[in-house]
Amino acid sequence: MANSDNLSILEQVQGYIQTLKKREEELKKYESSLNQKTEELNKKEKSLNDLTESLNRRQRELISKEDEIDKIKREIDTKIKDIDLKEREIQASLKKANELVDENNKLKTQLQDKISKIENDQKNIDILIRDLKDHIKSLIEGKEVTHEEMIPCPNCGTMISKDALICYNCGFDLTAK
Ligand SMILES: [Zn+2]
Repeated sequence: MANSDNLSILEQVQGYIQTLKKREEELKKYESSLNQKTEELNKKEKSLNDLTESLNRRQRELISKEDEIDKIKREIDTKIKDIDLKEREIQASLKKANELVDENNKLKTQLQDKISKIENDQKNIDILIRDLKDHIKSLIEGKEVTHEEMIPCPNCGTMISKDALICYNCGFDLTAK
């Protein structure tokens, strides 16, 4: 009986040892899987860090691009102001040119008036010369040279052309009636 008791205790102890070995193996497996997971987590952390860094870089790039866009906007504003200024200058020049054209037209009209006045004066002078010639002729020949176109001046009675505007003798203005 004592031998069989000892045997059974030995078997029990061997069984414990077996169980412990199994537990130890399981623990090792668990540890290894924990290590693996830790490694994966480290990898993920590193890739997250990389991602964060690249995001930060992009943000910095975006900020610098925004600065560039602001600069371009300011340049465009300046150019628009320049264009406005030039447009106003052009409009002022156009206004001046139109005023010059108006003035030129006015001068042209005044010149045409003067030309027609001179032509009128020339006609009057021709009539006066004709009357004077008739008068001189009548003084030389001792008789009045009259023709149908002659009328007496209402002021001095000298025979003058009925077309005359002023009397060649007394200067009476025949247009003032
Ligand atoms: Zn007269």
